[in-house]
Amino acid sequence: MATVGRSIFRLRHYDCVGFDMDHTLCRYKLGAVFEMEYQALAKYLIEQKGYDVRLRRPLAEDVDFLHKGLVMDVELGNFVKLSAKGQVLRASHGTKPMTTAEITSHYGPLRSNEFLRQMADDPIEAIEGPLHRKYRPFKDYFDLPAALMCARIVDLLDYTNGNKPLEKYTFWRDVLCGLVEMFSRDNLKLNTGGFYPKIKRHPELYLQPCGERLKKWLTELKKEKVTFLISGSDPEYVQWVASYCLGTDWRNYFDYIVCASKKPGFFSGQRAFQRWNYTNSSGVEDEEIPLDEVLPATSKTIYLRGNWTQLKSSMSWCCGVDHPKFLYFGDHLIQDVLAADISRLDVVAMVEELAAESQPPKAPLIDGLTSYKRWGSFFYDGGFTEINNRQTTADPFEKMNTLWSNLVRKHARLCVAYIETISDYPSNHEFVTVQNGQNSDKFLGFLPGLPTCLV
Ligand SMILES: [Mg+2]
Repeated sequence: MATVGRSIFRLRHYDCVGFDMDHTLCRYKLGAVFEMEYQALAKYLIEQKGYDVRLRRPLAEDVDFLHKGLVMDVELGNFVKLSAKGQVLRASHGTKPMTTAEITSHYGPLRSNEFLRQMADDPIEAIEGPLHRKYRPFKDYFDLPAALMCARIVDLLDYTNGNKPLEKYTFWRDVLCGLVEMFSRDNLKLNTGGFYPKIKRHPELYLQPCGERLKKWLTELKKEKVTFLISGSDPEYVQWVASYCLGTDWRNYFDYIVCASKKPGFFSGQRAFQRWNYTNSSGVEDEEIPLDEVLPATSKTIYLRGNWTQLKSSMSWCCGVDHPKFLYFGDHLIQDVLAADISRLDVVAMVEELAAESQPPKAPLIDGLTSYKRWGSFFYDGGFTEINNRQTTADPFEKMNTLWSNLVRKHARLCVAYIETISDYPSNHEFVTVQNGQNSDKFLGFLPGLPTCLV
């Protein structure tokens, strides 16, 4: 039997500390954002693409369907919760749960196929490569409402087909167009479309301002370490969200600010940095920076695109350490956690589901973070008999058998729900975590504690 021991996490161990922005430093009121995004998407599909007006039903009626990490089998109209090995743990056709017989009739007795195994083996290739068109993971809070939209479209198409499934579904490209349109940079600049005008007019409904303690912690951190922000969002959006959540002086918290970073490619590629020309956004080209140039540390410049190698060597130069140690906070399990770990940053995974799945739950059901009846825990699934038949383990980390919790276990140092779990303490605080005493996994565990299902 595995022994459960203790391990220590020390922030002072690191020379450079970085952050993703959306859902990491700057948090959203998820329930409100989900409903707003869903309705914007419904409006687009009904008015632009001629879809059924019944798609306008409130998202909240099916909030239990929302579950981060669901994968859509695009042609069959199925939604699957995957294991770490790419096996179907649970599934639904549209919003209708599939029986074991239905699952095995589609995915065989092993409840998998070469594509699902490929997704589990190489999630970066799965979201960047052609597999993405056949199997689409809904992997973050920005695209999660689209999963319910797709499921409801399948329900309506089946209904008009005499309550029978179609041989092949082709609606996904319409939903994808709706998503691309909703978050397009043109809509951002012109303040048009279904998303930006709403969030800009009433940010208090959708965004959570950062507390004073977090801001103070960031200020102290910057005195001791090199701090950096790597956001995938466009600079105009980062500017706006960060100003609302952190204050108009938000740039002062960081030595380096990178926007439109195109993660996960940022961590592995060699794309050039550009300096954002924010003084004149109409027509003046952003200035490209040679790949061998050291980037000066300044909160005055917002860098665009770029690559980790150059940022890393610039930070090494900046802090005067040959091999500095990097810590990075991010919520996206592929773009942040997996990609940053491959580039040898230590990662703190921000998983809000942890708050919903701790005891007592710290997030309400409406937020779509818990789906006890439909999909079960984000971290563990005991529903699939073959997994149940394995010897039960006393090691809580061994139980992390879902595709996404296994990514956390393999690629993060820590899992927390919110950054305040760490920023509420001084930077020299020693965090004691639960640790598997038998192997030398880098994963130190959950703070402040395990989700209920792993206890
Ligand atoms: Mg994020």
